[in-house]
Amino acid sequence: MKLFFSLLIVSTIFAAGSVQSAWAQGGRALREAERISGDRFTVALRTPRGARIYAVSRPNAAMLSAIDRGLTDLFAVARRNGYSRLLNYSDYTVFIAKPDRQKNADGNYSPDIAVGAGQYAGTDYDKGGYIYAAGMVISNSPAAFLIAGHRGDLSRVANIVRFEGEHLVLYHNDRRRYSQTADHSRGGGHPILQ
Ligand SMILES: [Zn+2]
Repeated sequence: MKLFFSLLIVSTIFAAGSVQSAWAQGGRALREAERISGDRFTVALRTPRGARIYAVSRPNAAMLSAIDRGLTDLFAVARRNGYSRLLNYSDYTVFIAKPDRQKNADGNYSPDIAVGAGQYAGTDYDKGGYIYAAGMVISNSPAAFLIAGHRGDLSRVANIVRFEGEHLVLYHNDRRRYSQTADHSRGGGHPILQ
């Protein structure tokens, strides 16, 4: 029943003048985001600049403009690096999940998502089979990533959006650099693009 509901939302999103394959890929990204987060994304909308949003509950206007701000920063730094692909707001889908923690180990506000440790198993990130992630790429095509809902520190949201977007911009513009920077368990972090 819940799966049916999710698919219904996807069909609404992609119905307007879109092709069947876009519908299918969007549906795959949605199911992957739901599998990883354990959430159900029942709210579908767009940011003022046109990025696609799926969320567990309706994000406020400040959250949406922080996402747009992060993408604006991403596009600026991507252009400085000579990249031209995937620089439209409408190229991006952002899943806003329920945070699995509100504060980090230092007690600072840090809404993050717990995800399976995967390649981070045994590293400093590993918290016993899972890691806390500020954001996570869900799909390269369509370009989609997951972040946690925030009630404050929206500059952190803008940064996470810019940082997750770096992986996607690199995937579509510079595959070699993408491969070198995609996995943080071997060192390296964000920002990648200067
Ligand atoms: Zn990253």
